[in-house]
Amino acid sequence: MDSQNSELSFTGMKIIGLTGGIGSGKSTLLKWFSDQGIPCYDADASGRKLMNGPLKNQLIEKFGKAYYHPDGTLNRKKLGKLVFNDESALRELNAIVHPAVANDFKKFVNDHPKADLIIKEAAILYESGAAKGCDAVIYVSSPEAVRIQRVMTRDNVDKASVIARMKQQWPEAKKRELADYVIENGYIEDAYRQAAQILAELSS
Ligand code: ADP
Repeated sequence: MDSQNSELSFTGMKIIGLTGGIGSGKSTLLKWFSDQGIPCYDADASGRKLMNGPLKNQLIEKFGKAYYHPDGTLNRKKLGKLVFNDESALRELNAIVHPAVANDFKKFVNDHPKADLIIKEAAILYESGAAKGCDAVIYVSSPEAVRIQRVMTRDNVDKASVIARMKQQWPEAKKRELADYVIENGYIEDAYRQAAQILAELSS
């Protein structure tokens, strides 16, 4: 366990990162882990919640009112367009959102002091540095063409915009190599079987 994590977790608790490229099936597998009774934290969803709550004023100050809808909710499409085409804007956004999510995760851990395992899902677990705070990382892998098709269907977006989002993430090979466990998510039942095997190993 590294120093960043020892600050965070309780004795005996393992924090397990769950990551994978967009459309790989992370959220689907997180739901499976949650169904097994394991406390599961969705870092991407928390980031979205924070952007619509406590971070709103700070983001309006930095990027302008135009990035929020008239009803006060974040215009994710517009902000996405900005940061997917402008690296310095992405850095500025991350500098606001990442520390807030890290803090929110600390609260989540504190709320589950008796848990043996906590699963933290994040699309950019490695890119953001959050993997350093994990005892082990599970990488969910699916072929790129399958991921593109899944996300086009899930989000009703075109191929080019899925590819633009993929380009901002580290290459698959690099993350696979760094991960402690890999789930090959082809047929979902196979993926669940692999997840069960990993869970048994982590719990032993
Ligand atoms: P991520 O969280 O990694 O972006 P999701 O878990 O949301 O990915 O999966 C993307 C889409 O693909 C979702 O609509 C999900 O229901 C579907 N999906 C995930 N895994 C499979 C699978 N093994 N077979 C078919 N569809 C899948």
